[in-house]
Amino acid sequence: MVHPFCNDLIATFKIENMQIHKQALEMGKVEDSQVNKEAGNSRRNFIRYSVAAGAGSLLGASLLTGKINAEESDGEKVKVLTTDGRLVEVEKGHLCCEPVSHEVARHGIGNKKMVMVIDLSKCRNARECVKGCQKMHYLPEDIEWIKLFLMRDNEDTGPYWFPKPCLHCNNPPCVKVCPVGATFKRSDGIVLIDNDRCIGCKFCMAACPYSSRVFNWKEPKIEPHELDKNYSPENSTPGKVGTVGKCDFCPDMVRQGKLPSCVTSCPNGVFYYGDENLDTVTNGSETLRFKKLLNDRTAYRFMEELGTEPSVYYLPPTNRLFDYKVGFNDISEEEIALYKKEARIED
Ligand code: SF4
Ligand code: SF4
Repeated sequence: MVHPFCNDLIATFKIENMQIHKQALEMGKVEDSQVNKEAGNSRRNFIRYSVAAGAGSLLGASLLTGKINAEESDGEKVKVLTTDGRLVEVEKGHLCCEPVSHEVARHGIGNKKMVMVIDLSKCRNARECVKGCQKMHYLPEDIEWIKLFLMRDNEDTGPYWFPKPCLHCNNPPCVKVCPVGATFKRSDGIVLIDNDRCIGCKFCMAACPYSSRVFNWKEPKIEPHELDKNYSPENSTPGKVGTVGKCDFCPDMVRQGKLPSCVTSCPNGVFYYGDENLDTVTNGSETLRFKKLLNDRTAYRFMEELGTEPSVYYLPPTNRLFDYKVGFNDISEEEIALYKKEARIED
């Protein structure tokens, strides 16, 4: 519970920020980089900037209502009483919000179109995105909703690391083949799965040209407090054995004004996430104009010749920050050999 006085302070601070950013952007008197500098390097830039650009309501609501912010909790644990009388320790960040109903989860968050931009020049196979996603969604270690590949376009170019989540296609083949309507596309562009409805037929896995979907063979690593939560397709937890899962673009985090776990986990700022309708994306450190970024860096969409219209854009791996071999640190010889084989790299 936030003291009313603190709420007033937060509200005043946000309104001032909103006015400064909005005026600056509308007048075109500042470059995006200046906005970034002024806004600082806080991971909360996304919330601040979104409010500034007029996005306001949902993204700003979590601060004003005093709900606990996972990024601010910094892993801090608190004790809570479960409905069956057990005392359990949970991370503060997981206490924030009740999952939304199945009906609400099907509609999407109003007036938004979520997009992701992945900067291939910065990726070094740190794999923190994979771990962050697994932790957030209680996935077993061998289930990855975001996968990392070593890619090489042709013999004249060097290898580079390529993270691949679900691409949240605007024309998703996976949705068209589901016989029970368990997987669906929302108004905000996010493709989700309702695991209460999924019958595990795997048609969607066969239809996805990006192999983004995985079958839940095992029980998820659910923490005790999660067992008491209602399931919602929007937070995808607790997962269910015998159904299909995939990257969900963390819509529950968006609803709270936070960034997806892969974005906040990445130490190199590879992932930018945001709202196409606001023409804004952020990696938590810098906030940029979405379309300008795509133009300036000649972005592309993976296998877009298929007509799937992905919501994930890639910035080509020009002027790479790391040699691809940096990505071989901390992985086994066996894995290195596999990566090399897939990228057709000779020793
Ligand atoms: S990447 Fe695959 S699972 Fe994701 S929306 Fe596109 S077709 Fe569906
Ligand atoms: S596995 Fe589930 S989500 Fe996929 S097509 Fe079958 S019922 Fe639909």
